[in-house]
Parts: sequence; structure tokens; C-alpha cells
Amino acid sequence: GQLLTEEQAEEIAMMFNALIEIVEETIDPKVKETKSEKIDPEDVLKERWKNLYEENEDKLIERAPVVTIMGHVDHGKTTLLDNIRNTKVAEKEAGGITQSIGAYQVNYEGKKITFIDTPGHEAFTEMRARGAQATDIVVLIIAADDGVMPQTIEAYNHAKNANVPIIVAINKIDKPNANIDLTKQQMVAKLNLIPEDWGGDTITVPISAKAGQGIDELLEMILLVAEMQEIRCYPEGLARGVIIESKLDKFLGPVATTIIKDGKLKVGDYFVAGSTFGKVRRMIDPNGKNVKVAGPSDPVQILGFEEVPDMHSILYGVKTLHEAKDYVEKKKALEEKVVQKRHIRLEDALKMMQEEGEQKTLNIILKADTFGSLEALKNAIAKLENPEIELQVIHGGIGAITKSDVMLATASNAVILGFRVKADSGAVKYAEHENIQIKRYDIIFNLIDDLKKALQGMLEPEE
Ligand code: GDP
Repeated sequence: GQLLTEEQAEEIAMMFNALIEIVEETIDPKVKETKSEKIDPEDVLKERWKNLYEENEDKLIERAPVVTIMGHVDHGKTTLLDNIRNTKVAEKEAGGITQSIGAYQVNYEGKKITFIDTPGHEAFTEMRARGAQATDIVVLIIAADDGVMPQTIEAYNHAKNANVPIIVAINKIDKPNANIDLTKQQMVAKLNLIPEDWGGDTITVPISAKAGQGIDELLEMILLVAEMQEIRCYPEGLARGVIIESKLDKFLGPVATTIIKDGKLKVGDYFVAGSTFGKVRRMIDPNGKNVKVAGPSDPVQILGFEEVPDMHSILYGVKTLHEAKDYVEKKKALEEKVVQKRHIRLEDALKMMQEEGEQKTLNIILKADTFGSLEALKNAIAKLENPEIELQVIHGGIGAITKSDVMLATASNAVILGFRVKADSGAVKYAEHENIQIKRYDIIFNLIDDLKKALQGMLEPEE
């Protein structure tokens, strides 16, 4: 072959640069076009609501609190929900068996409280991951004969990460082996929650869900916390709500229970939710009665969806059928080009943190085989310092990595580190779907070493 002279090479380079410039110019407007196509109509609605709130601060009014009861299995969630429902719901259909719609509402001393009766922090966290937080207050139930257990810690971390105020109900105090003091000691030691009567700020109510003891006090405390939180809503106009349950009913077709957060939803209204739309054909309240209008904090089962909406999506009332259809069209177009959400990976942590506007905290979910190893790991992680990244163990627990851990990771953009524990198959599948990184270790040194390398941007990506 022939070598180019310096001049020739320069000439070619110049032509090439010019060519690149031309190509870039022609591509540029197109890039912009595809970007504008990608606007999510749901984001538009979200933005509209944000503005509505900002511009009408003076019109916002108090709304009833929505409460979720969480805790370890068998500590009494269902019994408590049943007790409150049976003793405090005044209006019951005569002789009728009311079917649960996933939430109910009580009227206590002239004030309403809405309870979500699908216990489980997975649903809670999934809602948050979708930006649809339904819960205003969490009641963390701890059985006084069993104390703080793994799922108590898990539930607590889910609530804490969602920034939802927590009231502790110490349950089963009727049992001879109930030990309230020991339970409180464990609250302090394992949850870092100090009961009010011990000088802390965690409202703690001893109850017996079975005997109905302490329930009034608990409801009073819920109302008190609600008042302090200033839970507010925009009461007029089109509705906004959170879907807490949805299904295809054999007889009724697609149905979904929504807790209205703002505005009013009326029979005949058009609405959108997730990637579907509908027109309210019928609304059923938790007592099985048909209602024509539902307002803030009211749970209602809605009939009239085109398709079963995604669980935990947000329902927005819209003015016209045209608007609803336009929304769905845009949503469907968007779904076709869905890009997987970018979640943090250990090896990219430094790069991501250095980017403008990205988070500066590397959130970690840590699962270990024993309390001892969990504590040791937490201490070792706390010692890893870095000016650019803050490491935060947002949840530490004992036992296998579960789907619930992955949900929390999705909601908080965390990586999951397992030490001498497996990830169950549900967790693995969900993590793949949500693009969440799970790393497992059998040697403490390796785990810490990987974190160190990640902080320096020197961790090699996995195969
Ligand atoms: P969940 O798994 O948290 O929903 O717990 P459950 O409500 O199903 O309660 C588990 C068991 O504890 C059931 O047998 C209840 O009857 C019992 N239980 C719940 N609350 C109390 C209580 O206050 N006192 C006593 N003695 N037993 C209770």
C-alpha cells in the first residue's frame, strides 16, 4: 500500500470532520423528535397535579389518614383489622356478608380512618416503587410474647424508607407470657425505636387485638399522628387515587379498589390508570353499598375499566373520553419502546454518583445468615469512608434474599448483598425483571473488598 503525506492526511481529516458535522446536524432534530414522542402522559398528569397543589395551597384541606398494619406473621395483623372492623364500623348491611374490597373505613369520634386490609409490606413497597404511596401511617404490630422478629425488622425498614410515621402496637398483652418491657427493650436494641414512656418519640400502645383492649387508645393515637402530619388533599374537581387491588371478576369484569386521594370521583366520570382507561359504571363501598360519589381517603371498588389496571397504579379522573383515549394511545406507544429502568450496579456506583444530579448515596440491602455476621458486616461497612459516596445499609436482615428485598431495592435504587444466604427463585426472577443487582458472598473479606473497589471505581463488572 501507499502512505499518505501529512498534507493529504490533514485534508482527509478535515473532510471527515465536516462530514461528521453535517451528519450530526441532520441527526439532531430527529433526536429531539424521538425525545418528544417519548413523553409519558402519566408524567404530564403528575406534573399537572404538582402544579395544582403548588398554586392552590390555600385550598388544601385535611384528609382522613390511610393506615397500613404491618408486622411479623402471627403477631396479630388480621385479628386487629377484624377487631377494628367489627367494633368500629357502624354501618353494616343487615344480615349481608360484605366482601372485602381491600380496605375499609371507620368513624372514630367523628373522624374517619381508612385501613388497608391487605397486610404485607410487599404491597406497601411495590406501591412506593411505582410512586403511588397509599399509606399515611404505619402501625407496626409486635406480639409481646414473641418480641421483635425478622419480619418486624423488615416491615420497619420498609416503612422507614418510605418516610411514613410509625406507631408501635404491642399486641397479645392478655397472654400470661406477654412481656411488654422486654418487647420495648428489643424495640430499642433492634429497631432503634425508643418508646415515648422511655423518653423517646415512638408512640407505643399496648393492646390485645383478641380481647379488644387498647384499641380505642390506638385509634386516638392514629388520629393524633394524622393531625401532626397535616395530611391534606385538594378536595374539589377531578379525582386522583391509588389502586390498591385489581382483578378480573368472573361476573363484574375488570374491577379495582381505589383509595381516592384528591378530588371527587363520580359515576359517569372518565378516568385513566396505568396503561388503561374507563368510565365509572358503578362504585361499591366497603360495606357493599353502591355509591355515586367518592371523595378523599374513601376506598371504593370501581367498575368500568377497559382492562384490568396494574395493581398500585394511580387513577386520574379526566374530562373527556377523547382525553382518556389519547392518554392510552400515548402510553401504548411508549410501552413498545420501553427501556429498562437504570438501576444502580456496584461496579458503576462511582461513575453514577459523579454524574450531575444523581444520588450520592449508595443504598445497600444486606442479608446475612446470622445476627452476628450481619452486625459484623454493618460495622465493617460503616468504616468504609469515601468523600464522594455515602454507603447506607437501608435494610439489614437475616435469611434468604426474597422478592420483598428486591422490591425495596427497586423502590430505593439499592444493590442487594447476600452473605452466606441464597436468593429464592421469586427474588431472582423479580430482580432480573427489575434489573436489580444481587451479589452473594461467602467470605467477609471479599464483600468488603468489592465495596472498596466499587468506591474507587475499580470493580470489574460481572460476567
Ligand atoms: P397475622 O399473621 O399477623 O395476621 O396474625 P393473626 O391475626 O392471624 O393472629 C395469629 C394468632 O394470634 C391467631 O391465632 C390469633 O387468634 C392470635 N392473636 C392475635 N391477637 C391476639 C391477642 O391479642 N391475644 C391473644 N391471646 N392471641 C392473639
